Amino acid sequence: FQLLTFFMSNDKIIVRGARVHNLKNVTVEIPRHKLVVITGLSGSGKSSLAFDTIYAEGQRRYAESFSAYARQFLGILDKPDVDQIEGLSPTISIDQRTVLHNPRSTVGTLTEIYDYLRLLFARIGRPFCVNCGQAMKKETIIVAQEENNNQKNKTIEIFICPKCSLQAPKLEPRLFSFNSPFGACSACKGLGSKLEIDPELLIPNKRLSLAEGALQPWPKIFANQPSYWQMLERLTQRNHFSVNTAVQELSKSQLDIVLYGEKVKPVQDYFIGAIPLLEKKHEETDSDYLRGEIEKYMRVFLCPTCRGKRLRKEALTVLILGKTIADFTTLTVADTQNFFDQLSGPVGETKLTASEYKIAKPIFKELKRPLGFLIDVGLDYLTLDRVSLSLAGGEAQRLRLANQISSALTGVIYILDEPSIGLHARDNAKLIETLKKLRDLKNTIIVVEHDEAMIRAADWLIDMGPGAGKLGGEVVAQGRLDQILKNKKSLTGKYLSGELKIERSQPPRTGESKFLEIKGAKAYNLKNIDVRLPLAKFICITGVSGSGKSTLVIEILAKSLAHHFYRAKDLPGQHNKILGIENIDKIIRIDQSPIGRTPRSNPATYTGIFTYIRDLFSSLPESQAKGYNAGNFSFNVDGGRCRTCSGEGYVKIEMQFLAAVYIECEACHGKRYSDEVLAIYYKGKNIADVLDLSVSEAMIFFSDIPPLYEKLKTLHSVGLDYLPLGQSATTLSGGEAQRIKLATELSRRSTGKTLYILDEPTTGLHFEDTKKLLVVLNKLVDKGNTIIVIEHHLDVIKCADWIIDLGPEGGNKGGEMVACGTPEEIIKNKKSYTGQYLKRQFNAK
Ligand code: ADP
Ligand code: ADP
Ligand code: ZN
Ligand code: ZN
Repeated sequence: FQLLTFFMSNDKIIVRGARVHNLKNVTVEIPRHKLVVITGLSGSGKSSLAFDTIYAEGQRRYAESFSAYARQFLGILDKPDVDQIEGLSPTISIDQRTVLHNPRSTVGTLTEIYDYLRLLFARIGRPFCVNCGQAMKKETIIVAQEENNNQKNKTIEIFICPKCSLQAPKLEPRLFSFNSPFGACSACKGLGSKLEIDPELLIPNKRLSLAEGALQPWPKIFANQPSYWQMLERLTQRNHFSVNTAVQELSKSQLDIVLYGEKVKPVQDYFIGAIPLLEKKHEETDSDYLRGEIEKYMRVFLCPTCRGKRLRKEALTVLILGKTIADFTTLTVADTQNFFDQLSGPVGETKLTASEYKIAKPIFKELKRPLGFLIDVGLDYLTLDRVSLSLAGGEAQRLRLANQISSALTGVIYILDEPSIGLHARDNAKLIETLKKLRDLKNTIIVVEHDEAMIRAADWLIDMGPGAGKLGGEVVAQGRLDQILKNKKSLTGKYLSGELKIERSQPPRTGESKFLEIKGAKAYNLKNIDVRLPLAKFICITGVSGSGKSTLVIEILAKSLAHHFYRAKDLPGQHNKILGIENIDKIIRIDQSPIGRTPRSNPATYTGIFTYIRDLFSSLPESQAKGYNAGNFSFNVDGGRCRTCSGEGYVKIEMQFLAAVYIECEACHGKRYSDEVLAIYYKGKNIADVLDLSVSEAMIFFSDIPPLYEKLKTLHSVGLDYLPLGQSATTLSGGEAQRIKLATELSRRSTGKTLYILDEPTTGLHFEDTKKLLVVLNKLVDKGNTIIVIEHHLDVIKCADWIIDLGPEGGNKGGEMVACGTPEEIIKNKKSYTGQYLKRQFNAK
């Protein structure tokens, strides 16, 4: 980093001639050491500028600073399509796409907090005997040690049980690490849980016989391996029953033989049991598909040995003030802070001995730093043992932000993607302060953001547009807030000045309606609450981060209904019952997860538009003459697709230590099809040209084909005019994926009794996009459907028919229903944070 300081004499980062994705040869100056916010419509090119140009070039230069030897492992980093970037310094991106895959990492381990706790336990923990529970005593012993062939005596201290003379393992930090073989519970290898086949899922229908496929995964997984069928057949013969007997008629011991294997091993072809067989396959297979198939029959069980505490018992019998290290990790960040605050007082007030306190004091001091930053970014309600995998994208992002501040680097360009996601207006101010703190350490903060408070707090704004996709990619306006407000070209400016607004299209729908009612909701932090949801309304679930919104709506409601309507295997969160299910006939969750995980999925395939297009191409006279059918125009099967890339357009190159890299296919140049197929034209365009059309272009091109036109119109109505039909799913943003799903739902015949659930649908959306989204959602409600959204966006909350406000705080201090009613009623409720902010919103414009 010091090497690079001479670059930093510049007070600006200058990007010249950026042409990544839709950027139109953009040149822009970004002031250093400022909080810079990039705004603009969804798809206007904000991420292309911030992440795919500035960050990508920063990464590439970073990689270049390594030796050639190291570079081969870092991979080929393409130079982004940009003429020049001046004044670049090391760049760090803190986005929401970085998924935390590791089931071993927790809030504690990700933040150094757990490292300090381990150190604390190694230094002042008091061990108790795992045999008899006695407090162990410290004893000094002398042992002989061989050193350079000399016999030497060494004095060590050890802990011994006075009653049964058992010796404790050495108290050192690694004893308390569940990611080390020294500390981990050996039964679950430190995971705290085990993924196991659930017999109930394996045989859902006991009326079937083995021959009829009672073992549900059997036909799929072992279909082309007759040996496994023969094995079952011989097994049943040996044990005197038949593959044709219904499972419910088998005795328990016979069923156990099928599931868990034979107790008495025959000489030949011993059957280890369906469950061990599948578990073995699950562990050994290198096919993701097969592993996924088997996981459909598996559930996560708490490890019976450590009961989820992840550590071996010798580590779990070491205490500080009566608590094990696992007990400490069940505390929230806020409670941990309070606990150590109390201990940090005058020595007499703590229950630690004077010498323990002296040892612990510097560790307390270190602990306070990361704890404080987590509180600053609004994560005070998370427990230290919370598995990082279960964090929402916004939570994980803010956790990484806290880590960055904690590391106190300077001279860095930080690039963030909507850090306000998941944050209530109340906590936004704290987040903004945190970013300013990071800026004041002489860093440049570039934030892609839609949140009004964040935009207003920026030192410098860059407004992208004027439209999205091909219609965007330019800097429409830049400058300080007052300059943007005056700029007639800036759409963002117009919304900020109040010239444009998101308005309620109608007063709240207050008419009589049927209800869905959740009784006794108790999962996670919910305090045994009853919640009534009026149907055929637009309902917003609000509350500060961690108050219990997702737990109520996703964990309990969505999962229960998915189980009811679709027999989904996921167990819903704890509650008594849900009343009124008969008033709806299906549930649809529309989230921001990708619409497909391979470059072969795209908006056309997802929405079904591609089926029409393929039919159209195969019905052309030229196709008929060549005997082509719709399959020849598919890139999912052989017949018309490019053979080199199997229709992906790209070739995947596996990198040794890094994520795989995709490179355009040399044979078809990314067009995905064989030359023969590309020679067939409809109205002057071949199938690859058609896939390149944007939604609005396609609407003109296919205006005389009604079913196609109608489907395209739904994509238009959710604001995706600019989107190319064939853009691969892997490059779509979460917001784009969500709107494609919404459009697909819109094009289905509505039953008028559907419940739609959306989680922060405004993610990635500009005011203008949000306005369009509200129109679409209202249309669905007008047909009698019910919409439930979890939202923080005050303009959306303002437009709800009914609000359910949870809280009052996050974590254990939340989980209650603070208020419910129309926006007007919520405003009057003094206890509701949402009400207070909503009031300002109503008054402001
Ligand atoms: P924003 O961040 O403003 O929402 P983006 O920069 O993500 O917009 O996208 C700008 C345009 O570039 C959009 O039309 C988007 O679909 C397109 N785009 C984004 N990523 C890729 C990619 N990897 N390949 C092709 N097009 C892309
Ligand atoms: P919100 O959606 O309002 O932000 P959540 O429903 O996600 O809040 O969280 C409510 C409480 O439940 C929080 O204390 C949170 O830490 C806890 N919680 C949520 N998900 C999990 C989980 N998978 N494991 C443990 N605790 C969880
Ligand atoms: Zn265990
Ligand atoms: Zn190809």
